Amino acid sequence: MLQIPCPYCGPRAESEFTCGGEGGIVRPPKTETLNDTEWADYVFMRSNPKGVHHEQWRHSSGCGRWFNALRDTVSYRFHATWRIGESAPDHERSAA
Ligand SMILES: [Zn+2]
Repeated sequence: MLQIPCPYCGPRAESEFTCGGEGGIVRPPKTETLNDTEWADYVFMRSNPKGVHHEQWRHSSGCGRWFNALRDTVSYRFHATWRIGESAPDHERSAA
């Protein structure tokens, strides 16, 4: 079974986690000035790369906390995980 390294608890079984989609999406300032297309882009449009992808995950059956991850969408390998509010680590050095 795949293990995902929770930055709070350490490696745990994949079945304890929930993927929350793309990470690093910042709410635009002054949303009241956005037109419908700009708002729809913020709410609905996400990248779908083949390769390393920045995602947010939740340790839903563990500590319950959200965290960031760099995951390869082809191999499913997690290159790095880090806590919300922290800077992304160098993913080659901290490969899981
Ligand atoms: Zn955890």
